[in-house]
Amino acid sequence: MRRKLAAGNWKMNGTAANLAGLSALTEAHGNASADLLICPPATLLSRAADAAPTIPLGGQDCHANTAGAHTGDLSAAMLKDAGASAVILGHSERRTDHGEQDAAVRAKADAALDAGLTAVICIGETLEQREAGDTLKVAGNQLSGSTPDGATGANTVVAYEPVWAIGTGKVPTLDQIAEVHNFLRAELVARFGAVTGNAIRLLYGGSVKPGNAAEIFAVSNVDGALVGGASLKVADFSPIIAALEQA
Ligand code: PEP
Repeated sequence: MRRKLAAGNWKMNGTAANLAGLSALTEAHGNASADLLICPPATLLSRAADAAPTIPLGGQDCHANTAGAHTGDLSAAMLKDAGASAVILGHSERRTDHGEQDAAVRAKADAALDAGLTAVICIGETLEQREAGDTLKVAGNQLSGSTPDGATGANTVVAYEPVWAIGTGKVPTLDQIAEVHNFLRAELVARFGAVTGNAIRLLYGGSVKPGNAAEIFAVSNVDGALVGGASLKVADFSPIIAALEQA
């Protein structure tokens, strides 16, 4: 039985003023039947940990190396030191903005696992790839290329995020989500065996809102969501978490 997970990706948004909402989330979902993860900008991690000590926190990227001459980068151990227990890796915005490819994502995921962080590995096709009929091929290649051999249900989460659905208000049909998630589950089982392959959680991400969350969470092999825009406001994120708790 996989525990559900609602993960919020604040991206490059938020200052100290935004931390007030975290205690409201703790109050509303403190004893929830679903896990919660908030990934604020790294500048806020330690203050978020102080403001809401019970909410698990994640970074949004890490370097593959443990330390060294990499100006502007952060190691997985630094994120952990700042209060993170997880890190988002391979988000499509990093793949696009920084040219990250599967091998780099996998190296970062290895570093995350070595540091004791949970790797939330993002994969997903562009609209062009979907229209060319390549969705499963792209998702399968990204999954195998970005996921480390040491992945387990305890240290790795996979987020299927169609690039064309992120921040656009466009969402795949429920059948399309089911097709990809069922495919990814089969791929994980084929690679890692039934126990581990069935333990790794599969999140859907891309324009999840209060109005569509419940139907998405009812889809086979959807174990929760990675939420961008709607995670920035408690009034939007809280009903999404509630829908997951009831799924
Ligand atoms: C994301 O950035 O991971 C995401 C899913 O964004 P949004 O929910 O805004 O589409």
